[in-house]
Amino acid sequence: MAKPKTITLVKDFIIKASAWIYYHLRVQYYILGNQRWCPVCGKSSRAFRSFGVVPRKDAMCARCGSLERHRFSWLYLTQRTNLFDGIPKRALHFAPEPCFEGRFHKILQPNYVTTDLFREDVKLKMDITSMSFPDEAFDVIYCSHVLDDVPDDMRALRELNRVLRSDGWALILIPPVISETTIEGETITDPEERRLVLGDEGDARRYGRDFVNRLRDANFKVQVTEVLDLCSRETAIRMGLTSASGEIYHCTKL
Ligand SMILES: [Zn+2]
Repeated sequence: MAKPKTITLVKDFIIKASAWIYYHLRVQYYILGNQRWCPVCGKSSRAFRSFGVVPRKDAMCARCGSLERHRFSWLYLTQRTNLFDGIPKRALHFAPEPCFEGRFHKILQPNYVTTDLFREDVKLKMDITSMSFPDEAFDVIYCSHVLDDVPDDMRALRELNRVLRSDGWALILIPPVISETTIEGETITDPEERRLVLGDEGDARRYGRDFVNRLRDANFKVQVTEVLDLCSRETAIRMGLTSASGEIYHCTKL
């Protein structure tokens, strides 16, 4: 008769093996088909996976993990920037997204710097409001969904302007705007209301359409692009580009 410990080990193995098989069958379900196409990994799939605390359908590429904003950014980078022209560039990437990091590194190395205030897996751990880089150190800056977490975002924006070259460009993304004016987090004390308004209870604010004014106040010239400025509605659906993709703020120095 099998010992209890052996039975437990066998049970654990069966549970883990079943979970592994289920996970891979689910991935295969999403991958097989060509109803969707991801511009980041360049591959087709049946559908994008649901993602988010409140799950959004058609959100995450089952192959590379890209979300709506990543696919929008990649489309923008390929259509509206010189990132892929083969000319070496010095680039600064905040809070690097896994689906971008390897690809950016391949294109930009050795002059590709990843940074974050808290993460250990970046090249330089740094505070966006007080960077140690010299003036005009970078040709390209990519900063997505970071500023809404930063208490003194104007100081961060002035730092971004300072380290950007006069002929360089910065792509700045924020969570989709839901109001005309920015709502500062400190004005909301109820945790549930903070989650509803800010999206994340810990965020410093939820930007409104007036975000462009902050960029201009930091001496940036700004061009705002929405999904349908880049592609047709049919293409947007196939790439899973929805209102969750937000807008792209292309900034150059004034
Ligand atoms: Zn993908």
